[in-house]
Amino acid sequence: MKNERSIMLILLAAIFLYCCTGCSPKLDFVEKESFQMGTVITERVYGDNAENVAEQILNRMHGIEDNLSINVKTSSISKLNSSGTSIHSEEIINILETAKKFSDISNGAFDVTIGPLVKEWGVFTENPRIPAKQRIAELLKLVDYKSIVINKEEKTAKLTKDGQLIDLGGIAKGYAADEAVNICLQNGVKSAYINLGGNVSVVGTKPDGSPWRIGLQNPRGLEGEYIGILNIVNKTVVTSGDYERYFIKGGVRYHHIIDPKTGYPSKSDLISSTIVTDKSIEADALSTATFVLGLERSKKLLRSLKGVEAVFVTKDKKIYVTDNLKKYFTFMDESGEYTYVEKG
Ligand code: AMP
Ligand code: MG
Repeated sequence: MKNERSIMLILLAAIFLYCCTGCSPKLDFVEKESFQMGTVITERVYGDNAENVAEQILNRMHGIEDNLSINVKTSSISKLNSSGTSIHSEEIINILETAKKFSDISNGAFDVTIGPLVKEWGVFTENPRIPAKQRIAELLKLVDYKSIVINKEEKTAKLTKDGQLIDLGGIAKGYAADEAVNICLQNGVKSAYINLGGNVSVVGTKPDGSPWRIGLQNPRGLEGEYIGILNIVNKTVVTSGDYERYFIKGGVRYHHIIDPKTGYPSKSDLISSTIVTDKSIEADALSTATFVLGLERSKKLLRSLKGVEAVFVTKDKKIYVTDNLKKYFTFMDESGEYTYVEKG
């Protein structure tokens, strides 16, 4: 009798185990990673259609890179930059229009015609260098977003100054993230995230209904060391920082975000600027712009914009979070070097 009960229990346990592993629905998400637009793209999509949607997103990212990258010879941007003749691309006109809007409101701190200077500094190359002052002064004459001729009706654009170069590095990832989110929404996806090299957008909540938790990189820590967590739903989080691409010479850090007023890597009081809002293209332009503008001017700019929040980190390792974002921010500094200025 005792034996029979034991066998019965073992059988029940076996059935239970089988049901837990074999009968329960598979975790319904797909995660994919690829290297595009000069960065690692990670996406996680939940739902029945996840595989198909994740694939659509990667294809779209490919298409965007083909049209927008200065490293793709046949891209519209390469044509615009090399020939000085008119290009026809609805996608680029839309991005340039948004770029212009953020150039205007940031008083030129964001400027996609920064291309010649980005190239001259070579921060993205094997041989970065400090250009001669005179060379910087020469190239600065080419930096002028107002001189881009855009024909909105015909969807054409052209550059007017010889040697001018457009660099969409400060805005293209945001645009791409929005496109990824749109693909999710068009396909009824309720839960997803996409991360384009630190430029994150999320769809809905996590499948269990909780907010997505996005770690904020410690600008002076190793990759993956955080200074805080943002809890977000249906938002984008975009950071610009002087730690992303840089070289050090004579003890000075020369990074990849150029101040269009000086031609040098911006020397504001910020070491990172994170924007949280609805549209990633706007967050991308604004994170770059605010990084150049510095703490006080950025706070003022954001007060004039609706639904745009930020986390600013200053050189003296203080963290400032805009009022409406404070309840979604958890200060979590593993290094113990940062101060959260809660009343700043
Ligand atoms: P982000 O990481 O979004 O701040 O973008 C930085 C990238 O944007 C750089 O690597 C350059 O390609 C480009 N860039 C640099 N300075 C500026 C600027 N002042 N305005 C617009 N784009 C810039
Ligand atoms: Mg940007």
